Amino acid sequence: MDVANGVEYSSHSELIFHTRHGASLVSHRSGSTILGRAWRLRCPRCGVGRLFAGTRKWFVMHERCEACGLKYERDRGYFLGSTYVNYGWTGSLLVVLYMGLHFGLGLSNTQLAFPLAAVFVGVPIVMWRHARSVWLAMDCLFDRTGFSQDK
Ligand SMILES: [Zn+2]
Repeated sequence: MDVANGVEYSSHSELIFHTRHGASLVSHRSGSTILGRAWRLRCPRCGVGRLFAGTRKWFVMHERCEACGLKYERDRGYFLGSTYVNYGWTGSLLVVLYMGLHFGLGLSNTQLAFPLAAVFVGVPIVMWRHARSVWLAMDCLFDRTGFSQDK
């Protein structure tokens, strides 16, 4: 087992973090685990800390994980990339909806204009928190060293 910066690497592809409170948390390295944490709006490293303050404070993101201390905004403008995530799933949804409703059900472009515009505006707002969470999780998946060294 290697120990560096409060992080241990076990032989079973796991990271063990030593939190500010002295407890140890185990972070599995599988992509499905990290993306599952992203979907639940939890810290991608430990899976315990919440990313956002709560339902009443929809757009308020915690600066650090309350459990392992991971700084969420890795650098200035870090979450700009989450707009691509949000754009990607909104655009994909619009294509599927348009194809299904126009070619499948035969609705005209005039009938679809307002509902699809509402989807175009509404989905990015509703999915804003998940876009940030998925962006952070993808970074954690592709660059584990940065996430293992940060306290
Ligand atoms: Zn954490």
